[in-house]
Amino acid sequence: MENAPMSKKMVIPTDLLPLDGRFGSGPSKVQTQFVSKLAYAAPRFLGTSHRQPAVRSVVGKMRSGMRDLFALPDGYEVLLGNGGSTSFWDAASFGLVQNRAQHCVIGEFSSKFATVNTAAPHLGQPEIIETAPGQTPTPCRMNTDIDTYCFVHSETSTGVTMNVERPDGADGIVLVDATSAAGGLRVDPAQFDVYYFAPQKCFGGDGGLWIALVSPDAVARIESLSQTDRWRPASLDLGIALEQSRLDQTYNTLALATVFLLAEQVEWMLDGGGLEGMAQRTDSSATTLYGWAEKHPLVTPFVSDTRHRSNVTATLDFDASIDAAAVAKTLRSNGIIDTEPYRKLGRNQLRIAMFPNIDPSDIERLTACLDYVLERSTTA
Ligand SMILES: *Cc1c(COP(=O)(O)O)cnc(C)c1O
Repeated sequence: MENAPMSKKMVIPTDLLPLDGRFGSGPSKVQTQFVSKLAYAAPRFLGTSHRQPAVRSVVGKMRSGMRDLFALPDGYEVLLGNGGSTSFWDAASFGLVQNRAQHCVIGEFSSKFATVNTAAPHLGQPEIIETAPGQTPTPCRMNTDIDTYCFVHSETSTGVTMNVERPDGADGIVLVDATSAAGGLRVDPAQFDVYYFAPQKCFGGDGGLWIALVSPDAVARIESLSQTDRWRPASLDLGIALEQSRLDQTYNTLALATVFLLAEQVEWMLDGGGLEGMAQRTDSSATTLYGWAEKHPLVTPFVSDTRHRSNVTATLDFDASIDAAAVAKTLRSNGIIDTEPYRKLGRNQLRIAMFPNIDPSDIERLTACLDYVLERSTTA
């Protein structure tokens, strides 16, 4: 699509601009105050042993902060390891899936985990329940053959959310990919056995780490699979991760800056009203942004089912008379960055993160900027 009026030189008036231009869905906006704190702590923290109290106490603070943030019931534990959510999928295929998983596939990320378990030579073929991107998702359903149910809380590639609920009558464990949801959406720990994520989305930190909130049933599954002779690489061994996490450590060296930023962020979330306080922030941003899109004649929320619209990642379709990629480019040249859609979805769309760190007033300002750009962009 050629949209001549979309010049790179379009300048959005400064008074309309958000105070912070980072709207990316991951890595996402990191709070500068925590980076400053890290710089201050650096001489006693960065470059010191991860087996010693200076670092272990920060890991411990992060783990207990997570326990408070998610109001974890007794017996639930906070595990961590290196490699981000993608590595956690591999670890789960070795250490959580007994034989056969069921996957709800609703977009790119949920499909990637299904691919991991499909390819794993030690597992039976998973059952896949697929829903087209953006449509009302079909939830997991009980199947006596299934020992592990897998779905995503918020599918970051499409902006669709699923309800975190155990399938009726199922006795398998429930694994929820909460990479972009955790910390920004409400969740009841009674409804999951594993709720896993990475710090670079709602927790506004850096990538490369995975965190998993695990129930006593999930701990029992990890322990029982650890006692089998199933081959597994040590770096993906959840039995080892369980032992190490209990000691506020990781099997191999973790990124110290990453865990420092995460511990600070969790503390900020707790001070800001905990998970409920964060969910109210994302509610507010989502009301503003989807409300704006619904009123705008050239914009439509991609997810039409309002019950499954994500409050942390909004996907907005643009009318064919507008080139969304050119809009994203104009925004970028004005310091409003990473609004491009998920690459593989291939739609004339913008994707905007509304994570807790993104101020709801900046979402408001973003809509004013979009109005400004759109008024000057139609070819029709
Ligand atoms: C970002 C994301 C992932 C991948 O996370 P990595 O830490 O990069 O491996 C997985 N699932 C969802 C839902 C995500 O948003």
